[in-house]
Amino acid sequence: MEENCIFCKIINKQIPSTIVAENGEAIAFKTIKPIAEHHILIAPKTHIKAFVDLKNEHKDIFMDMINLAIKVIEENGISDGSKLAMNGGKYQSVPHLHWHILAGKLEDEDNILN
Ligand code: 5GP
Ligand code: ZN
Repeated sequence: MEENCIFCKIINKQIPSTIVAENGEAIAFKTIKPIAEHHILIAPKTHIKAFVDLKNEHKDIFMDMINLAIKVIEENGISDGSKLAMNGGKYQSVPHLHWHILAGKLEDEDNILN
């Protein structure tokens, strides 16, 4: 738990969010600002800042993240087309590691990262 981290607060239920699934080390919740028909975030329950901070010791956490992403993709019926995106550095606005699952109608079809 990192002080002043919005995602740590979501994980600890200190601020409300729509949690869609979780497993041992990871949590899936809806973004407050969707840019696609399906837009769900996958975050580790442990505070890790960014993908450049991932180390071998995080492999169980990372496997829980990928397994949770697969479950959410299957449960939402979007296995035929989805994107898993991780922003870093200047492209990342919340400094707690997370994947964006994006699928369905995208806000900007021309932007490959949307
Ligand atoms: P980033 O730019 O860091 O890759 O993405 C941050 C994501 O977190 C965005 O989808 C943004 O809408 C979402 N987000 C930011 N603050 C909150 C919040 O308080 N609650 C929820 N559910 N999502 C948030
Ligand atoms: Zn955090």
